[in-house]
Amino acid sequence: MEASITNFLLLFAAVAVGWLLGRLGRSKAPQSGAPPDDSASYYKGLNFLLNEQADEAVLTVVNELPVRLETLPTHLALGNLMRSKGEVEAAIRIHQNLLSRPSLPREELHKVHLELARDYISAGLLDRAERLLRDLVEESPGYRNEALEHLRHIYQTEKEWEQAIAVAMRLLPKRGWLRRGSDKGPVATQVSLCHYHCEIVERLLHEGDLKGARRELAKAQQYEPGSLRLGLLSAQLSLQQGRSSEALSCLQDLLRSKPAWAMHILPMFKKAFAEVGGAESYMDALARLGSATDSSALAVELAGSIARLEGRDAGREYIRAVAMRRPTLRTLSCWLELSGDEVGPAAAQLREVIEEILATRSIYQCRQCGFSGRKLHWLCPSCEQWGTIAPIRGTQGD
Ligand SMILES: [Zn+2]
Repeated sequence: MEASITNFLLLFAAVAVGWLLGRLGRSKAPQSGAPPDDSASYYKGLNFLLNEQADEAVLTVVNELPVRLETLPTHLALGNLMRSKGEVEAAIRIHQNLLSRPSLPREELHKVHLELARDYISAGLLDRAERLLRDLVEESPGYRNEALEHLRHIYQTEKEWEQAIAVAMRLLPKRGWLRRGSDKGPVATQVSLCHYHCEIVERLLHEGDLKGARRELAKAQQYEPGSLRLGLLSAQLSLQQGRSSEALSCLQDLLRSKPAWAMHILPMFKKAFAEVGGAESYMDALARLGSATDSSALAVELAGSIARLEGRDAGREYIRAVAMRRPTLRTLSCWLELSGDEVGPAAAQLREVIEEILATRSIYQCRQCGFSGRKLHWLCPSCEQWGTIAPIRGTQGD
């Protein structure tokens, strides 16, 4: 019920604004040769809209309302309204009708082109949208950046990273790189560029083209030096090249500089360590890192390592101290596990429940929109921002 009232108000507002703009435009026109009164078509179209007869409203406006500079806002408002309601075919019909009238000024035609491209994107006709947008980039300085942004988004959706890079480069300001905190748009473009190169690095690593991967990594580096994803990929490349010590030192730096990501970095760190040092030096390395971060995942890993090397009691004592200081589901479950039979069957059941929660709850969350899940997405599937998803912290997190 509430949604239908909102729709009604939206429809009414859009058409009323169009009508008013049309009237105002006409009032400024000279008396001689003034265009004919279009009120009848407006009212007819408006009635259809109020009766939720979108098709008839579109037909009325397309067939009966002449296309002139003064009536253009109404045509555009109705077209955009149709697209926002999901009536993409109707929106396309309205915008195509406008393009068939070459009497409109060039700049206005470009605006219609852009709206039609948006219709095509909404309809999933990305090839058609791409052609329109490419023409706009070359022909319309006024809509160049908007068209480039849409193109970047299309290539990103289709995972055509090389094309996305070429377009994003054109969106960057000519002079120098920007830092986080400066103008938002270009900085977001730089972050995107870093991730586009990282996507290519992942593909090359998968294909075993290690030289190519290193080259791409260097390119990514210039856009967001020190990023976590770059560090992880760099370590992975070193591992694939058989340079375990190099990978290890890179991962150790990451664990120190980005402790909130310890849970994510740890598995690769463990793998790299297995190729270089023994169990004892692994335990020492974890202990050094443990004093610098408050990661539950790291504390649990260290407790297990202590239990294996120095006995279960030592492991339990360590995790007990950690859990008393900062209780989380992970540390409590580990404490119960290392306590063994001493704590009785109730505690064993409690641990089972905790483990079930840990196995099903979200691990990552987007700082921008709140989207959460168990898989790390570098590009948030909900708000489509790069690098906004991070591990969840706190009692139920790391
Ligand atoms: Zn998001």
